[in-house]
Amino acid sequence: MLRKLSDEVRYAEQRAAHAAEIAAKTGDPRLKADYLAMAPSWSKLARSYEVAERLGDFIHHNKARKAAALRTQIPIVHCPDCAAPMRVMLVVPHEKYANLDDRTYECTCGRMVELAIAKVVEGGS
Ligand SMILES: [Zn+2]
Repeated sequence: MLRKLSDEVRYAEQRAAHAAEIAAKTGDPRLKADYLAMAPSWSKLARSYEVAERLGDFIHHNKARKAAALRTQIPIVHCPDCAAPMRVMLVVPHEKYANLDDRTYECTCGRMVELAIAKVVEGGS
């Protein structure tokens, strides 16, 4: 997707340069006027593609940053029986405390553990 947009930017810039070149070379006043009008449109399209590309990069960067922040907030729980990292099976809001979740963890050995753990705050860094 991003690679394709860069190609689109390059293509639109080439078309703008080509239109300006023809406008400069032609002796036909109507053709010159047409190509002079066309060149800025191609340039404008190239800038639009660039903005879209930068916006795409920004969104991608923010998603990755947010995912990384969430990962660091989720505590890794180890099995009390075999010490292997456990998998979260269920997360429900704590009955009494709004800032806690009741998390149910399961180990590959079959052991289940329930813990009250601070809620993961989305958008926090
Ligand atoms: Zn285990």
